Amino acid sequence: MLVTAKDMLNKALDENYAVGQFNINNLEWTKAVLETAQELNSPVILGVSEGAAKYMTGFKTVADMVKAMIDSMEITVPVALHLDHGSYEGAQKAIEAGFSSVMFDGSHYKIEENIEKTKEIVNIAHSKGISVEAEVGAIGGEEDGVVGNGEIADPAECKKIADLGIDFLAAGIGNIHGVYPENWKGLDFDALATIQKEVGKLPLVLHGGTGIPNDMIKEAISLGVSKINVNTECQLEFAKETRKYIEAGKDKEGKGFDPRKLLAPGTEGIKKVVKEKMELFGSVNKA
Ligand SMILES: [Zn+2]
Repeated sequence: MLVTAKDMLNKALDENYAVGQFNINNLEWTKAVLETAQELNSPVILGVSEGAAKYMTGFKTVADMVKAMIDSMEITVPVALHLDHGSYEGAQKAIEAGFSSVMFDGSHYKIEENIEKTKEIVNIAHSKGISVEAEVGAIGGEEDGVVGNGEIADPAECKKIADLGIDFLAAGIGNIHGVYPENWKGLDFDALATIQKEVGKLPLVLHGGTGIPNDMIKEAISLGVSKINVNTECQLEFAKETRKYIEAGKDKEGKGFDPRKLLAPGTEGIKKVVKEKMELFGSVNKA
C-alpha cells in the first residue's frame, strides 16, 4: 500500500534498522523493487529524481503507474513514493501529482533561503499528509546536474532545518553520489553523532549508498541513519547483466530480441541488489 515515509522511518529509527530508497527509472525497475519488497516483507521507498520523472513523461505518469502496480501486484508492504532531490517547483508538482513523500533539496541555497523554502514545502506537504525530507550540506558527486563536494553538514544548521518540522533529514557526512573514488576518506561518524545529538529524535538519511563498506553502513544505522539511498548500484548491475546477455548472443537466439526477454536478466540483477541491501539494512520482515 502507498503510505508516507514518516511512520516507516520512525519505526526504523526506534527499532534500529534502515529502510532502503531505491530509485526507479521505468516499469521494469519499479516491478523489480516492489516484487522484492513484497517477497522479503520489507517496507520500501521508491525514489524518483526530477530527471527520472521527466524521462517517464512526468510526475503524474509515475504516480499513476506506481499506484496501479501496487494494486495489480497486490503489494501489501508499506511503499512510499518519494521525490529525490526535488527543486522548490518540482516538490510542489510531485505533491500535486500524488507522490506520498518529497525531498526538497535546498542545500545549494544559503541557509536562510534553504530555511524559508523548506518551511513553505513543509506547510504545503503536511497540509496534504505528505512527508518531507530536507537537506543540509551538499552531498558530493553529481545527480541530475546538482553537484556537491562531499561536505560535512553544520550541526547548528541541521538543527535549524530540523526544527521546521521536517520528517527526516539528509545531512552530508562525507558521503557522495555515484561511484566512490579510490582516495575517499570514508564517512565522518563524529559529525554524524554530533548532528544526531543536535537534531534529537529525527530519522537521518544517508545518500550515495553505493560502495559504502558494509561495516560503515551498520555503524551509520546505529547512529540514527534510518533511510539509505541506493541508485547507482542497481544501474551498474542492470547494465552488467544486460551486457552479459547481449555479449553471449542471446538476443540472436530465437525470440531473444523480445524486450521482455532482453530486459529480464537486468531486472533480476536489480532484484538481487535490492535483496542484498534490505538484508544489510535490516528491513526484512519489518513491514
Ligand atoms: Zn542523493
